[in-house]
This record gives sequence, structure tokens and C-alpha cells, in this order.
Amino acid sequence: MKKKVTIYIFDTNIFLTGIDFNLFEGVIYTTPSIIEEVNDRRYIEKNRNILNKINAAIETNKLKIKFPENTYIEKIKNISKKTGDFKALSDADRELIALTLELIEKSNKRVKMYSNDYSIENVCSELKIPFSPLYKDGIEFRIAWEVYCPYCKNIHKVEDLNKICEICGLKLRRRPKK
Ligand SMILES: [Zn+2]
Repeated sequence: MKKKVTIYIFDTNIFLTGIDFNLFEGVIYTTPSIIEEVNDRRYIEKNRNILNKINAAIETNKLKIKFPENTYIEKIKNISKKTGDFKALSDADRELIALTLELIEKSNKRVKMYSNDYSIENVCSELKIPFSPLYKDGIEFRIAWEVYCPYCKNIHKVEDLNKICEICGLKLRRRPKK
């Protein structure tokens, strides 16, 4: 059986961790606006050589830059309005989720999105897009999560993530505990 290649989608905050792209077996995709954001934020994150790394990966086809089709951007706009994340998402965020959805539908490969943005996570969860955060030290559980209902704001047990609020019928979400 032929092993399916995986496509990884990277958000700005993933590039800024400085992660070694070769740790990912497969091709990495992102959008032009994400690369612009990385360019704007690399000094704040003290990661000046990140663009060299990105350019080298583009040259070897490890990293591909693609703008999503408009139909997918429209789809993400509608879904994020439904989940209540529309205002929290930038154009760049929407384009990135749209590209992910497009590659899932058209590439016939496994696709996984990497981002540390909670609104992106919510929309991906709604669309059943495989999603993972990735922190600088690679350890996600250092963050204490809180599971809550986006409507009635009640706090639930962490194990109840993605279950339905008994009061409102909405899917529970998570956020870092303050
Ligand atoms: Zn509720």
C-alpha cells in the first residue's frame, strides 16, 4: 500500500517558533499573507533569520505558497459567522483556513493545520479539519485549559471539550485559563 503524503498548513505563529521544517515528513503550505505577517513580526520575535529559512524551503519545494480560491474564502466567512469567530479572524486567518479546506477537497492527501490561534482552532473544529497547536518548547499541556460554553459562558470539565452544552446545545470550546 502506498503511504499517503501529508500536507501541513502553517500559520504565522508556527513559522515564528523557528521550527525545523524537516521534522515534518511531507510538504508544508501557507498563503502569501502569512509570509507577509512573518516578515512584519520577525523582529519583534527576535527571529531575524526566519525568512532565510523560509526562502531556502521554498527553493527546495519543501514549502509552497498558494492563494486559496475565492469560493473557499466565502465558505470560511460563512462558517466563521456561524461559530461566532468572524470578527476575531483576520483576512490572513480566513485565507489560511480556506487554503486548508481547498487542499483537503482537491489534493487527495492527508492535510493537517498547525496554528496557535483559538479562533482558527474553533473554525477548524467546526469543519472537522485536523488541527494542532505547536509551542516553542513543543509542550502543549503546560497551558492550563478551561472548557466553556460560548453562549452561556458556563465552565465545564476539560474532558467535555467538543461535547454539547446541556443548557444551550452549543459545542463547548477551550481557552487558556487566566
Ligand atoms: Zn451553554
